Amino acid sequence: MKIMPNRLDRGFYMFQKEFEDKALEVLRSGWYVLGNEVKSFEEEWAAYTGAGYCVGLASGLDALWMAFRILGIGTGDEVIVQGNTYIASVMGITMNGATPVFVEPDEYYNIDTSRIEEKITERTKAILVVHLYGQASKMDDVVALAKRYNLRLVEDCAQSHGACWQGKMTGTFGDIGCFSFYPSKNLGAFGDGGAIVTNDAKIAEDFRIYRNYGSEKRYYNKVVGANSRLDEIQAGLLRVRLKHLDELAAEKVRIAERYTAELHNPLFELPRVREGASHIWHQYVIRSEKRDAIIDYLNKKDIGTIIHYPIPPHLSEAYQYLGYREGAFPITEKYAKSVLSIPMYNGMTDEEQSIVIRALNKFEG
Ligand SMILES: *Cc1c(COP(=O)(O)O)cnc(C)c1O
Repeated sequence: MKIMPNRLDRGFYMFQKEFEDKALEVLRSGWYVLGNEVKSFEEEWAAYTGAGYCVGLASGLDALWMAFRILGIGTGDEVIVQGNTYIASVMGITMNGATPVFVEPDEYYNIDTSRIEEKITERTKAILVVHLYGQASKMDDVVALAKRYNLRLVEDCAQSHGACWQGKMTGTFGDIGCFSFYPSKNLGAFGDGGAIVTNDAKIAEDFRIYRNYGSEKRYYNKVVGANSRLDEIQAGLLRVRLKHLDELAAEKVRIAERYTAELHNPLFELPRVREGASHIWHQYVIRSEKRDAIIDYLNKKDIGTIIHYPIPPHLSEAYQYLGYREGAFPITEKYAKSVLSIPMYNGMTDEEQSIVIRALNKFEG
């Protein structure tokens, strides 16, 4: 049996009828951009996260770059971010001309909060926290630092829908929480989508202006904005998935807990959950010096895996201009060489998981 790292079709068939009915409903409505589905989704996502406002956007990257634009962060400013993130986090900063200042991650793959303070300069304007792989970061430390140094706080929640730090949802700790609804995310659309949440009415209003060519009133443009609207079909389909998000999240937790209970092989390390954090398991990430051999071995058994992410942003070609060389961030680079996401998705059968577990436990190097 072939096992793929992800199976988006399973997530569709689970609620096929509801998705199909909603898609037809929107198609037949005659209203396709910025209508009632988007408005209702925004209300429901704000309520789910416990934020005051939500604004639907076209992608997670748009949420990120617009966040820094709206906070007035640009050329000459520095933004602190963990080194081992998906490159879109960094692009959200650099698209505004601001400079990313990288911090090494801790053993939970999130920003090592004990290393933030040494990176703060008079140019530092914000901290961007990424709740990587679905685990909430240690937010009390970050919030305290942002307060002490008067920094803006933005959260990249593209992988952490519904994950909490000490019972409070990611995305609600700072100025702006940025979400992606790319199909593989825990709350996934059937195409691109994104949103922000905030408790600040003015920030929410600014996003509504920015996403629509910078106009509040039709054909009256206040700022040079973008076309970044969540569309009605995606918003409608997201509303269907959101109704089931808690059960979908619980299923992923069950799968992750089974991996943690049954995988036992000294040749790799299992992911851990920090006390006080919840983990929604966007990915189940193991770590091994023999990572590449594990990939080959699993491939031969028809088991697919993915590396999140093989090249850290500071070493990617796109960011050569920042001037970093190999060795600049040893922990970030070690993780890039050793992490591996094993198959994990909603609708994964016990049998499929047993095959993965058996194979990994038998790996001998
Ligand atoms: C997916 C992702 C993004 C970008 O979201 P898109 O909707 O694909 O633009 C940003 N940051 C992280 C951590 C992500 O995983």
